[in-house]
Amino acid sequence: MRIVTSVAAMLRLARRWRRHGTRVGLVPTMGYLHEGHLSLVRAARKRVGGTGRVVVSIYVNPTQFGPREDLARYPRDLKRDVRLCRAEGVDVVFAPDDAEMYPGKAAGNYSTYVVEEKLSQGMEGASRPGHFRGVTTVVAKLFNIVQPDVAVFGAKDFQQAAVIKRMVRDLNFPLKTLVAPIVRELDGVAMSSRNKYLSGDLRQQATVLQRSIQAVRRAVTTAKQPAPAVQLRSLVGKVIQTAPDARLDYVEFFEPETLSPVAKVSPGTHMALAVFVGGTRLIDNGRL
Ligand code: AMP
Repeated sequence: MRIVTSVAAMLRLARRWRRHGTRVGLVPTMGYLHEGHLSLVRAARKRVGGTGRVVVSIYVNPTQFGPREDLARYPRDLKRDVRLCRAEGVDVVFAPDDAEMYPGKAAGNYSTYVVEEKLSQGMEGASRPGHFRGVTTVVAKLFNIVQPDVAVFGAKDFQQAAVIKRMVRDLNFPLKTLVAPIVRELDGVAMSSRNKYLSGDLRQQATVLQRSIQAVRRAVTTAKQPAPAVQLRSLVGKVIQTAPDARLDYVEFFEPETLSPVAKVSPGTHMALAVFVGGTRLIDNGRL
């Protein structure tokens, strides 16, 4: 396994692979890897086969964090990530630093961004202004640098996957995007690098997200007719109240393909929510 930190070296490798017709799979991450990330690595390997190459990028992308967010304290452990990638049969860990990814930015001379204007408006986009501009920009850059045939994302970030798929279509990136299912802990909490912030009792309280989805799913599947979203919102509010340190940021019910909000919820509608548990902001989603 190679660890590549410069864009130039990664581009050289990518060009060589292209010349030889080698299939390439990319798994973009911010590191502090867990089983959720590793499931994407396995999905990538499955797609490119034993003769293909799997690249895991590890980069905590500053442009997708807001000024009051957790960029500085985001958990990092490159040594451990490298070990996990090696054990998983990853071919290349691409771990650039900020100067590599955003040349000139520190001096105010970086000025090109990629913006998706529709699917990125609601939910995470509304709650975290500028977040998706950072995501689409860094992912577009990674696509140009690694030139993958397939890129794998997790359904944990449902809206992000939709925004990236739209960007790939709209900008003609010559690759396929795969979205892999959410990997959860035994108690139902979606795996996340940010779970590290949850100490003691807060970790248990983090089950409110999945419990909210399950409560809504029960309500929707047992209802005789489509349930009003306003009613389900208040149901979610009640579940969230069972965790003393949890505060709802948003909950949305929407069509999974278009992300359009719906007023009446029926089986097949998608639900996503963001909840602060203590100071930690967690997200989750699921099909109802
Ligand atoms: P992150 O490192 O949090 O930026 O995530 C990198 C990729 O891993 C994204 O495509 C996420 O959606 C995906 N991912 C994160 N957590 C999970 C999970 N629990 N299950 C599946 N995919 C995940």
